[in-house]
Amino acid sequence: MTHPYDDTNVFARILRGEIPNATVLETEHTLAFDDITPQAPVHVLVIPKGPYVTYDHFCAQASEAEIVDFARAVARICDERGLAAGEGFRAIANAGGHAGQEVPHFHVHLVAGRPLGPMLAG
Ligand code: AMP
Repeated sequence: MTHPYDDTNVFARILRGEIPNATVLETEHTLAFDDITPQAPVHVLVIPKGPYVTYDHFCAQASEAEIVDFARAVARICDERGLAAGEGFRAIANAGGHAGQEVPHFHVHLVAGRPLGPMLAG
């Protein structure tokens, strides 16, 4: 499976500094920022800085350093935002059309702060 990367997507533009973001955490390989249309009191997007389209693309092609950096960034955000110690959270990674992925740069949504309902709707 190929994963052609479109570097005009909005997260690529954020990474190039062309549009602003509300940064939550930045590390060598990872950026996290608040979602512009939050679905819950906490709604953070975590993205790798590398050009990966989907979760499987990232897991298959990213270096071990990128993967570890990304995973540790998620853990830091969960700790610093109190997600791990609180009432829980949901991590979501949409990929492709059936999942409704709007931005073709891999990202994990971390959502928390209210009851989140069933895992899947519709
Ligand atoms: P997805 O449907 O999984 O691709 O999610 C894309 C997410 O990106 C949505 O929750 C949008 O609200 C969010 N989003 C789009 N543009 C921006 C932006 N400029 N800054 C922050 N979040 C954004």
